[in-house]
Amino acid sequence: MSKGRAAAAESEVAERPLRFAVIGAGMAGILSAIRLEEAGLGDFTVYEKAERVGGTWRENTYPGLACDVPSHLYSYSFELNPDWSHRFSPGPEIQAYFERVARKHGVERRTRFGDEVVRCEHADGRWRIETKSGHRDEVDVVIAATGVLHHPNLPDIPGLDAFEGAVFHSARWDHGVALDGRRIGVVGTGSTAVQIVSALADRVAKLVLFQRTAQWIMPQENPPFSEEEKEAFRRDPESLRVAHQNLSTLFTAFSNGVVDAGSAQMKMIEDACLANLENSVKDPVLREKLRPTYRAACKRLVISPDFYQAIQKPASELETAGIERVEAKGVRTRDGRLHELDVLVLATGFRPDRFIRPTEVIGRGGVRLDALWEKRPIAYLSISIPDFPNLFLLNGPNGPVGNFSLIEVAELQLAYVLKLVDLLRSGRCREISPSREATERFEAERVEAAKSTIWATGCRSWYLDDRGVPSSWPFSFDRFRDEMAAPKLEAYELL
Ligand SMILES: Cc1cc2nc3c(=O)[nH]c(=O)nc-3n(C[C@H](O)[C@H](O)[C@H](O)COP(=O)(O)OP(=O)(O)OC[C@H]3O[C@@H](n4cnc5c(N)ncnc54)[C@H](O)[C@@H]3O)c2cc1C
Repeated sequence: MSKGRAAAAESEVAERPLRFAVIGAGMAGILSAIRLEEAGLGDFTVYEKAERVGGTWRENTYPGLACDVPSHLYSYSFELNPDWSHRFSPGPEIQAYFERVARKHGVERRTRFGDEVVRCEHADGRWRIETKSGHRDEVDVVIAATGVLHHPNLPDIPGLDAFEGAVFHSARWDHGVALDGRRIGVVGTGSTAVQIVSALADRVAKLVLFQRTAQWIMPQENPPFSEEEKEAFRRDPESLRVAHQNLSTLFTAFSNGVVDAGSAQMKMIEDACLANLENSVKDPVLREKLRPTYRAACKRLVISPDFYQAIQKPASELETAGIERVEAKGVRTRDGRLHELDVLVLATGFRPDRFIRPTEVIGRGGVRLDALWEKRPIAYLSISIPDFPNLFLLNGPNGPVGNFSLIEVAELQLAYVLKLVDLLRSGRCREISPSREATERFEAERVEAAKSTIWATGCRSWYLDDRGVPSSWPFSFDRFRDEMAAPKLEAYELL
């Protein structure tokens, strides 16, 4: 074949058209749409069941909501923001940021809002998509950006329905319910509960925090950026990039430390949390109630500048007796006491093992994802699943979670996915999925590595799966970066 014809043939192959469905228009779905467009892969639809972009930041609107990694790190690397108001900016500002970025890059007009994907079936080499409204699509590649902290975990407390006041999950905040001067109960002691307590302690008549497990609190000031600082970032975008890079380096060191329970980083965090407790809580009885019996960072580390101050305010009460049941007038604890309340907030977290479910996903040969994941979800490198070709998960099972920016995680994952997509685009294969052997090998290595992480040092947390094995990335963050840098094709089946 002549050189010209060979090049023409190559470009013909290179132009294999690919259609994509991106499920979810949260941080990872917006990112996917932007990167697909940039890569010249413009034939896609984003499906979002809600009416707006934003995911987590659209759904969570509770008082005190803020990110707990610094804002200049919790930003897309290609859309750094000189205008963040605080070191850890409030939730509405983060939601506005995602909306702004989505609008700027035309993501909203590529999104079908209010249409939940209910079924994805792999047939004849493509994915057939079906939505709640009955809309159908057929695509070559599915990117599932459906979130990890998305399905509220509702506690099984007897009598919840009997409560005469208002009761809601923290991710379904009812803004029609008045708070000022009223009696509020908060169930749970994770990052969300801590942020709510800090925000409400001065506003309400009574604030009862129902604690099952005490938390280590990492003190972190949250100063605002001055106008001069913001102006300096605007004038010198390079300084913004350096700030992002420096924070990423700092948090990489932290993340590398988390996976080694004996590391110096863990010791440093433990010391800081312990000093915070000893120095901030005056009453020795309250101090002991607030003292965790497990190691710092075993549960997701709670970051707060002022929780200990808030829980010592006159309206606040820490209740550790355990909840017996909810009654019409309030919460009865195991010691027989009734805490009369007007509002009960369930800050009880999420079901992190759901991912794309309840969407029905049917892979090659009729394999059902729900059946495959019956015990627990697994995925090769957290991104792809044997027998589910050309289906890629962002922030999927066993990926890095914890006190790190999930934006950086999703950016690395998506760059990896686009390298796999190149194999489809170039005609090297029509279908790509990891082999069962590679997935099982990875899973076995992951479970072994999880044993020496801080998360396995003896606490109950949402990181643990049904066997008590930490379900997040147990290797260093440096290894995650290395893995994401280039797919190891020997782990994949290319058809
Ligand atoms: C209170 C809270 C605070 C947090 N703070 C931080 C932080 O400080 N730093 C950090 O890194 N991370 C934080 N996180 C984690 C946060 O979830 C991620 O940072 C990020 O927002 C996840 O983005 P995502 O796009 O992967 O998922 P999500 O934001 O959950 O978005 C998923 C989207 O998919 C849509 N969707 C789901 N299923 C379907 C379907 N079948 N069809 C159509 N649409 C669907 C949902 O409606 C949603 O819009 C926090 C989470 C919570 C809950």
